[in-house]
Amino acid sequence: MENDKFLESSNTPKLSALVRSKPVQRNQLLLRPVDVEKLVGKQHPVRAIWELVGQLDLEAFYTEIGALEGQAGRPVWDPKVLISLWIYAYKDGVNSAREIAGLCEHHPAYQWLTGMEVVNYHTLADFRVDHRQALDQLFIEVLAVLSHQGLITLKRVMHDGTKIKAAASDKSFRRKATLEAHLKAAQEQVEQMGDPRSEQLSQRRAKATERALREKLDRLKEALKELAELEAVRSKELAKAEREGRKKELRVSTTDPQARIMVQAKGAFGPAYNIQISTDAKAKIIVGVGVSQSASDAGELEGGVQRIETKLGQKPEQMVADGAYPTKATIEAMAEKGIDLIAPLPQARKAGWEDPLKRRGVSEEFYPEAFGYDPSTDHYTCPAGKLLSFETEERQKGWVRRRYRARLADCASCPFQTQCCPKTKKGRSLVRQEQTPQLAAFEAKMHTEQARQIYKERAGVAEFPNAWIKEKMGLRQFRLRGVVKVGLESLWACLTYNVCQWTRLCWQPQRLAPA
Ligand code: SF4
Repeated sequence: MENDKFLESSNTPKLSALVRSKPVQRNQLLLRPVDVEKLVGKQHPVRAIWELVGQLDLEAFYTEIGALEGQAGRPVWDPKVLISLWIYAYKDGVNSAREIAGLCEHHPAYQWLTGMEVVNYHTLADFRVDHRQALDQLFIEVLAVLSHQGLITLKRVMHDGTKIKAAASDKSFRRKATLEAHLKAAQEQVEQMGDPRSEQLSQRRAKATERALREKLDRLKEALKELAELEAVRSKELAKAEREGRKKELRVSTTDPQARIMVQAKGAFGPAYNIQISTDAKAKIIVGVGVSQSASDAGELEGGVQRIETKLGQKPEQMVADGAYPTKATIEAMAEKGIDLIAPLPQARKAGWEDPLKRRGVSEEFYPEAFGYDPSTDHYTCPAGKLLSFETEERQKGWVRRRYRARLADCASCPFQTQCCPKTKKGRSLVRQEQTPQLAAFEAKMHTEQARQIYKERAGVAEFPNAWIKEKMGLRQFRLRGVVKVGLESLWACLTYNVCQWTRLCWQPQRLAPA
């Protein structure tokens, strides 16, 4: 019985063999009509980009085009198409010209923009970097549209910096001696290129080799120039190391000499650029972007204000920045310009950490407020009536801090020693920060609840575009090299961000509104 059942099931044909399915024929050519207009839907963001770019004055992009009506020469791609392609690509997380050219062959949004033509990647790559001033103007044009829509007020601008990896490896950093040796070797190679006894290469290959060698030579020369500039900037540090008998040699990258080693996400070190972004708080619109080679944000706020004034012809009423920005010079510059600066007090930067006085076991009754200062004698008097005399002066980021100290003998015999300076081996010390009217006013303001509340909004606004550019656009590493080109790449990214904000806040609500 069991055996019969087995025979019956083994003779039954499989269901998959009985089903009549459509065959897939790949060895054929098809010619199909395509309605280009219908490649993308009515609400597709590529239409928003095209619509906005179409409203802008792009005359600056047309000035360098030589192909004119009635004259010889091939027609060129309209800058309106190339701008839209780059904005859509950045929005899509694509920042390679070759990739865009590939997408033009099959991606409906790119096909819609180009009318199903393919744009050569050289054209795209050149266009991205060849129109610096025109791109600046385009950024301003978009800001004008956003301002007209009431999305920019400049009443409150949040400023922040973000480190983005350079197109160089940390292994490409070389010392001066190595750079000079490489330069010498490259020069010798270039000289040998014209030697008839050298290896016979095809003309095309010879030209490519020559170009590569000359580019290498230029990069090495640029690296040595950058190294000299870096040595001049860090001369004090180098002199100090020499005095102390330490060997300190600076290095620059041979791939991107203008990149600098900076701390990046998760504490990793590597070649990067510091991108400074100013964001209007009303609708999180980027109103300024700049590139810095400095790993520190200190001193970058003045440049941020300058860029806003240049682009919008108006200075912001209030600037909000994190604790890395407020140097003495910055606080005074903002006060001079009449800009309300909101930033943590330099002393409060360690607020998250344990109070250093508490850590040293100092009781609250012996905190600095309990000591009296006499400007006529430049002395402090402690609660026990002893004098604290001037000891040293420290200067950091423009701040001048003067240290005063009590005599060890006074403290050692003092009944309050266990509460005032339980761990000191030198006698109790105090630090007095130099005050000017602007610094005093800034300090008083930052102690108010209103300033604290405004500062609480900072992260949500200032860090939003930084995160969007890195997470949504995927711009975690630049493709281009050098400050100028990195600046252009940053500008394209920020322009795209603003266009996306316009699409979200103006274009989409209009499209979705009932007729
Ligand atoms: S420990 Fe020194 S500084 Fe503190 S109260 Fe006594 S004498 Fe003054």
